[in-house]
Amino acid sequence: MRSKVIAGNWKMNKGLSEAEQFADSVKGNLPKDDNVEAIVCAPFPFLPALVSKAKSSNLKVGAQNMHFEDSGAYTGEVSPAMLKDLGVTHVVIGHSERREHFAETDESVNKKVHAAFNHGLVPIVCVGETLEQREANETMSHIENQVRKGLEGLTDEQIGRVIIAYEPIWAIGTGKSASSADANQVCTFVRNVVKAMTSENIAEQLVVQYGGSVKPANIDELLDQPDIDGALVGGASLEPGSFLELVEAGT
Ligand code: 13P
Repeated sequence: MRSKVIAGNWKMNKGLSEAEQFADSVKGNLPKDDNVEAIVCAPFPFLPALVSKAKSSNLKVGAQNMHFEDSGAYTGEVSPAMLKDLGVTHVVIGHSERREHFAETDESVNKKVHAAFNHGLVPIVCVGETLEQREANETMSHIENQVRKGLEGLTDEQIGRVIIAYEPIWAIGTGKSASSADANQVCTFVRNVVKAMTSENIAEQLVVQYGGSVKPANIDELLDQPDIDGALVGGASLEPGSFLELVEAGT
């Protein structure tokens, strides 16, 4: 049985006191259920405060990006070692907004995924097609390429511990989620690609999330699908009440 993993991606939102208030309101109210994991992926400046507030609660704290090197002349960047040092457990890698606005590629995603494992961080690797790709029937070939290149060179055991977030770009921030059947079809496909790369056993362990306009009103039917193991949520993860409802849906 795979756990459900509900991760909030705050993107570039909130201030420090709002972030602290969020952790205070959420941490005591998370379901006491080992089969659901709740993660909040926050901007770098809030991570120390969130990690400290989340201590001895079920809330986990993730980053939204990192560099792949441990240290060096990379002005403005944050290394995996720094995140690990802070007590961060997860890191979003290759979000479509980073691919679009910050020139991230499958190659840089792959380097970051390796770096995450080298530092004991769990990578949440984002894949997803544009509307043009979907309309041209290129969704599956594009997703296969992103998964294969993103996970290249990992051991089977590592691949079994990756979280893959399928986020169709046309569904992000648009209020227009993929239908649960369409989302599941791609999540099943992701699992099959991983099966072809590793084994049935590893593919069965893999957590595949859906992301793109997930909210309390539609999460139940998404999580009811056999190959959707959780959600990566932007807008609806910002308010404590809504985040708690999303996590509750995973129980
Ligand atoms: P929304 O939930 O706001 O559509 O954002 C999805 C997303 O990009 C999460 O990483």
